[in-house]
Amino acid sequence: MTAGDPAADLVDAGLLVPTGLPGVYGRSAAFDDVRRAVGALVGDAARAEHAEAMHFPPLVPRRQLEQLGYVRSFPHLLGTVFAFEGGERDAVRQAETAERHEDWSEFQRMTDLVLAPAACYPVYPAVAARGPLPEGGALVDTGDAYAFRREPSEEPTRLQMFHQRELVRLGEPEAVADWRDAWRGRALELLRDLGLDPRAEAASDPFFGRSGRLLGGSQLEQGLKLELVVDIPGSGPTAVASLNHHLDHFASVFGLRTSAGRATHTSCLAFGEERIAVALFRTHGLDAGGWPDAVRAALDPLQG
Ligand code: ATP
Ligand code: ZN
Repeated sequence: MTAGDPAADLVDAGLLVPTGLPGVYGRSAAFDDVRRAVGALVGDAARAEHAEAMHFPPLVPRRQLEQLGYVRSFPHLLGTVFAFEGGERDAVRQAETAERHEDWSEFQRMTDLVLAPAACYPVYPAVAARGPLPEGGALVDTGDAYAFRREPSEEPTRLQMFHQRELVRLGEPEAVADWRDAWRGRALELLRDLGLDPRAEAASDPFFGRSGRLLGGSQLEQGLKLELVVDIPGSGPTAVASLNHHLDHFASVFGLRTSAGRATHTSCLAFGEERIAVALFRTHGLDAGGWPDAVRAALDPLQG
């Protein structure tokens, strides 16, 4: 790794393909085989718990993020989709402006779409729309889902678009709290099976601004977010997964209820697939063929 480019080792090995934009990479088959195998490992654990698969595109209705207060809490991370809706004359002016690489935003209008900032966001309204939760609540596996965050960085563990695999638990408050407690240990174990050395740390989300610092402090105080942190060679301590307890935040906005009419809570467990893949390549070597047998065995699809 050179001091200048913190991604140089991964790029030189052909694992990441630069695009010229910070935090936006193409990925080689070797990288993506590992990334997907990590996702599959989470998927296996989800299947064992009879999770329901729900795979969404990385877009959510703008209105939903507005309802959730995301625009207030994370204005710096959100990607909003704009599009052209004008006539012939504006289309020509837009093209000419764009071809001069000048600002053509005056021809663009906000759409009803925003980029999904996390894999779990589309799940809550979708489950709520089906009516009361079944007895025992629900558990959803998002599959390997893209998330967007406007946080450009040269650091290969901090991307603008990346994959999360999330498990989302919705149900009565005690059941959701129990699920979260059980998964704290299981998630650490899953990462240890990959030859990583994770630790769980209380954390807070990067809320925006001065009032955001208060929100982060209260999140920390209530122990609502746990990060699983791994020391990644060349990148330092990095959160590769997080367990997030939302209390009734999502449930109240979308009107989630149990069949008995009780209020519900939600929690999610989010694994960052690219971060875990980078941790594996940097820990075990840039050629996955040479990784310890136990690690390759844990990442079952790599065996084939
Ligand atoms: P950080 O504190 O590093 O910004 P986070 O705690 O806000 O991350 P979460 O919202 O908890 O991240 O997202 C869950 C997981 O998604 C993280 O643990 C990480 O593995 C992954 N992730 C989050 N942001 C990024 C990013 N910009 N690039 C790559 N992976 C990310
Ligand atoms: Zn989530």
